[in-house]
Amino acid sequence: MTSHTADIDISEALVRQFDKSGPRYTSYPTADRFHAGFTADTYHSFLEQRSGRTGNPPLSIYVHLPFCESLCYFCACNKIITKDHERVAEYLRYLDKEMSLVAQRLGKDRKAVQLHLGGGTPTFFNADELRQLMSMLRSHFTFTPDAELGVEIDPRTVQAGTLSLLAELGFNRNSFGVQDFDSDVQQAVNRIQPLEMVEQAVVESRKFNFRSINADLIYGLPKQTLQSFGRTLDSLIRVSPDRIALYNYAHLPKRFKAQRLIVESDLPSAEARLQIFLMSMQRLLDAGYVYIGLDHFAKPDDELNKARLNQTLHRNFQGYTTRSECDLIGFGVSAISKVGHSYSQAVRTLNAYYEHLDADRLPIDRGYALSLDDVLRRDIIMTLMCSASVEFAAIQRDYGVDFASYFATELQQLRPYEEAGLITVDATAIRVTAKGRLFVRGSGMVFDKFLSQATTSTYSKLI
Ligand code: SF4
Repeated sequence: MTSHTADIDISEALVRQFDKSGPRYTSYPTADRFHAGFTADTYHSFLEQRSGRTGNPPLSIYVHLPFCESLCYFCACNKIITKDHERVAEYLRYLDKEMSLVAQRLGKDRKAVQLHLGGGTPTFFNADELRQLMSMLRSHFTFTPDAELGVEIDPRTVQAGTLSLLAELGFNRNSFGVQDFDSDVQQAVNRIQPLEMVEQAVVESRKFNFRSINADLIYGLPKQTLQSFGRTLDSLIRVSPDRIALYNYAHLPKRFKAQRLIVESDLPSAEARLQIFLMSMQRLLDAGYVYIGLDHFAKPDDELNKARLNQTLHRNFQGYTTRSECDLIGFGVSAISKVGHSYSQAVRTLNAYYEHLDADRLPIDRGYALSLDDVLRRDIIMTLMCSASVEFAAIQRDYGVDFASYFATELQQLRPYEEAGLITVDATAIRVTAKGRLFVRGSGMVFDKFLSQATTSTYSKLI
């Protein structure tokens, strides 16, 4: 099978040749390279470097809300399954403390241009709790009038008034976890949410002026077939979200306990997954969605596609974004921050999180301070991931590095990608071709100096 449109042309043979395991590069170095030598004090010093200085980048804020009412068996997120809603009040108290510790160091003049609530299930929080969270955020940080305020929504938690409340609180972007509409698949992963539920939530979102409404799908789930997933795609295309993320399910039961509840014999074979992927790609392109990169599709007039065309697309922990360089400040358990040339990640458990904050300490578990070589490589990898051109003159200007000699080995390693027509390389730049957009992970990996070192992480494959 081959997927064709004027925009992109992917053959099965190409996928077989270039589908390898690799990071998704929401950061570089990837989170498995963060280490405990980077402590709360190190994070503190990166925050202080930003304090009081002019010309700092704006803030993008992420808040991790870990509670969920029931367990989806495919889940790989850091979540807490509970029916006890009383736990939210305590978590909010500690979030407030964490925000206050960070805000003291950053100063009030730093503008926030982006907010993302992720989880877990942010809409596990009731109306009063969401109001309290937003008022805490607004008391510690100043959001610009055009700030993007986004929230992940589990359609099963949407009640009358949920979307109007979110809109009233300032949210203007949302993302629905759909995964699959087939009832057998939904049963096999313990997540029952009929099509009508999602349809209604998207219609309501439009009524309240949410923009860039996203829906997540997952292929490779138990009981999925080419036909059943085709029906799911057709249904979702009718619902017509502005963006669709098509993730592949990585079955790693040793690492993610929830996945042990999945019956392995129900999983589609590697061959079936490949066919499902190619069919999905074709169907989304035929329906008029544009391929953005990695797992992401968007309507042609969506700002993500406009940014791709203008070469102003960026990548952060939430995936692709139109916002340029920001300091990313994460709050809550396991949240990741990126401040200056550093990454840091919070502790994963509630107990550890509360313990750190009780001691007036930022709840940092590990992190990484980037060297200049890391920053340069990150710049190249992220440029490739956004399918923009890596211009050698810009690298020379920004880093004082002669690309051809500094990256002589990497240029050699890129040859197969060049020969397959996935990139072009000339004396001035590396450019990703239309069909190369699907394989940017591979070309990015060429510049990842950590891949030769051991890791505890298992990277997923494209298919
Ligand atoms: S997939 Fe989402 S809703 Fe389901 S258990 Fe994981 S975090 Fe919770």
